Amino acid sequence: MAQYTPMIQQYLSIKAAHQDAFLFFRLGDFYEMFFEDAVRASQILEITLTSRDGGSQDRIPMCGVPYHSSAGYIKTLVENGHKVAICEQVEDPKLSVGVVKREVIQIITPGTVIDDHLLQDRENNFLASIEKDNDTYGYVLCDLSTGELKGYTYDGNQLSFIQLLLSHGVKEIVGNQDLYDAWTNTVTQTGQASVSIQEEDSVDSQFDHLVQTISDPVLLRASGRLFHYLTHTQKRSFHHIKAVEFQQNDKRMKLDAFSKRNLELTESIRAKGKKGSLLWLLDATMTAMGARKLKQWVEEPLFVKETIEKRLQLVENLIGEFFIREEIKEQLKSVYDMERLIAKISYGNASPRDLVQLKRSLFSVPVLKEKIKGIQGKYALELHANMNEHKTLAHYLDSAIHDDAPIHIKEGGLIKAGYNEQLDQYKDASSNGKAWIASLEQQEKAASGIKSLKIGFNKIFGYYIEVTKSNLSQVPDRYERKQTLANAERYVTPELKEKERIILEAEEKISGLEYTLFLEVREYVKQFIPGLQELASAVSELDVMQSFAAISEQYRYVRPTVSEEGIVNIVNGRHPVVEKVMDAQEYVPNDIVLNKERNMLLITGPNMAGKSTYMRQLALTAVMMQIGCFVPAESAELPMFDQIFTRIGAADDLVGGQSTFMVEMLETNFALTSATENSLILLDEIGRGTSTYDGMALAQSIIEFIHEEIAAKTLFSTHYHELTVLEESLHSLKNVFVSAVEENGSLVFLHKVIDGQADKSFGIQVAELAELPEPVISRAKTILQTYENQEKREALPIQEVSATKEEDLQESQLSLFVEKEEKANRRDNKEQELIKELKSLNVLEMTPLDAMNALYKLQKKVR
Ligand code: ADP
Ligand code: MG
Repeated sequence: MAQYTPMIQQYLSIKAAHQDAFLFFRLGDFYEMFFEDAVRASQILEITLTSRDGGSQDRIPMCGVPYHSSAGYIKTLVENGHKVAICEQVEDPKLSVGVVKREVIQIITPGTVIDDHLLQDRENNFLASIEKDNDTYGYVLCDLSTGELKGYTYDGNQLSFIQLLLSHGVKEIVGNQDLYDAWTNTVTQTGQASVSIQEEDSVDSQFDHLVQTISDPVLLRASGRLFHYLTHTQKRSFHHIKAVEFQQNDKRMKLDAFSKRNLELTESIRAKGKKGSLLWLLDATMTAMGARKLKQWVEEPLFVKETIEKRLQLVENLIGEFFIREEIKEQLKSVYDMERLIAKISYGNASPRDLVQLKRSLFSVPVLKEKIKGIQGKYALELHANMNEHKTLAHYLDSAIHDDAPIHIKEGGLIKAGYNEQLDQYKDASSNGKAWIASLEQQEKAASGIKSLKIGFNKIFGYYIEVTKSNLSQVPDRYERKQTLANAERYVTPELKEKERIILEAEEKISGLEYTLFLEVREYVKQFIPGLQELASAVSELDVMQSFAAISEQYRYVRPTVSEEGIVNIVNGRHPVVEKVMDAQEYVPNDIVLNKERNMLLITGPNMAGKSTYMRQLALTAVMMQIGCFVPAESAELPMFDQIFTRIGAADDLVGGQSTFMVEMLETNFALTSATENSLILLDEIGRGTSTYDGMALAQSIIEFIHEEIAAKTLFSTHYHELTVLEESLHSLKNVFVSAVEENGSLVFLHKVIDGQADKSFGIQVAELAELPEPVISRAKTILQTYENQEKREALPIQEVSATKEEDLQESQLSLFVEKEEKANRRDNKEQELIKELKSLNVLEMTPLDAMNALYKLQKKVR
């Protein structure tokens, strides 16, 4: 250290405490970076790397960004998952002795940004703080830009937990060192979130009020860790962080990461964007707050009948009131993003424009409330009650802040006349002076007789009287020369100088006072934060509800009935997103009936017939009902599902090769071990990722397991036609198939799902549709014929069978085995001998060498 200059020493000691962040070291008008930071930042930010003398032998690498344009550079770093520690001069350089004192005043991290230009309007920016106890995870999601805190517990393995976290779209995950070590690779490989360490996990007493309803120790530690991390990075107190809202597992439908993605709830698989997702379809919200709330709802459907019915009722009532709904929509347009405005107020960096937006938002509340009054129902009343108009605050803001106030607070023009007497006096002085000067031009023209005489102002010379060269002879003696131009002279008079002094003095006072007053106003608003948050929340719910009503009406959705008996009865249901994107083509509606006698459907049908669509149709209908929206059908009755599991066979995995057969099986395992009889399981061509018999065997045993052990409602699509015999043995399994017909040798999909089984797999016709070369097609047809001629329709041996069919099946099982054994006999006697010999070996009593010898002998016989 000693070899460095004092400033570099200061830098190094601050940097030592902020190893994981880029240290933006304030030097005059620049933020400078040194050493390794400089080398890396210059690459990421594409700025010039220079060097400076720092007292050591070698020059120190250095790069810098101007303070005034630093926002863009910070954005780039944070968006790349890095952290930026902002280190400012905390004393006046003029007054300091030696090196100016510097401190880190904030660490900007991907999960703690609150600046507009670093955030997506219609999406939350979540930071997750996690904690683990045996197999239970506790985690808190925090959006610092809105003040929301949501607490969860989760039982499951590490991989599925990480996936779940990422599926919330978290930007940053905070854990202790152990969790960090265990996870960083998995998380950063996905490239979606950065990982940070925070050891302390006790809840500091200043945050006690935020965790009053939390009793789970794991969740408490996760909360404690979060608060420590926020304090450490933000270095301030928070007025806008809400109490942790515990998201009880038994009050919501659980959706694992894979199912969320596979059902394309908030993101389409192909395009990776919102377009094509359920969220995209349902989003007719008018405010950013509503859009974020909708996303949260879609990701976490309810499992509480009362709340679902409450929402459905309001959707119904809103649909019935078209005009009121239109007016609500119109009014919502003038509501700004109050949640984020509140965060800025809490941070003390709200701009005058932000306060004007808050005021405008508040002014639309009375109108909104008036409209809601016209809507029937409990929920409408509730929303009405939760919308506090904040009249006093609104009028106060209106009296204080100019409507067209600038963004910057030092430019003046912030405070309205009448708000502060002193300010008004200064303003009078200034405008009187200006008026006097305005009248001066006429006066002087008349007095001097110079028609082209002009009064002007510039920043350096102030006010002046300008006379062109040709009129210089007429200039009165009282004029004092101030400046000479190419073809004119500029003068002042003693009176003009005096007025100028008054004006400039007043203006300086004005901008100083306006600044002070503005800070007062901003501070005053802080006390209203909790009430404003409640209002914001009610407004955003109203926005989501009007959106549900609008979409439900537009697409002719119906109110579903929540079945208490576990019955699914959907008449003419549709897949809402496929239907929407199909444009002119007609979507073919389908019924879905599930009950005790038909709890599982085995779906067969050619490729492209609509199997996957049919299955997702049910899942999306369930999700829509459980978020409180109407559903795409002619009529619909369905139970609340506690969880939905969706698994796709690896070969059909749209995610793009990420999924191997092993992952497919891991995922399936997760579904099989977590599902209950109240769950919905969709298994789409499971078993495809391996060889035919393997796959078929697995598929069958999975079906049997669900049937016997879980009894969850299940849709299972398969291309193994052989599995359709299971209908005979599994009493609540029914075969359905998606029909297609051959017309003039080519295939026409009817997309109609009917009871029974498809008799053909139509693979070749699909290949024909895809315009494979003619020789390939006709050769395939010939081969198929050979196969079909050889084929003996054999049932697979069934492991567990129901009582009624047991005998039949045992018979067929037996005959199958006998037949197989005979075949083997005929084929090769030698092999039979071998088998005998193999059987006679007592492996447990052999030494490894004996075993080797025996194996050698056996092999010799075969060769
Ligand atoms: P499968 O899983 O049987 O291979 P998909 O469910 O992927 O078939 O459906 C293939 C395509 O058929 C879909 O992309 C959609 O365009 C169309 N389709 C599916 N179901 C219907 C339907 N009910 N009505 C109209 N078109 C449909
Ligand atoms: Mg499919």
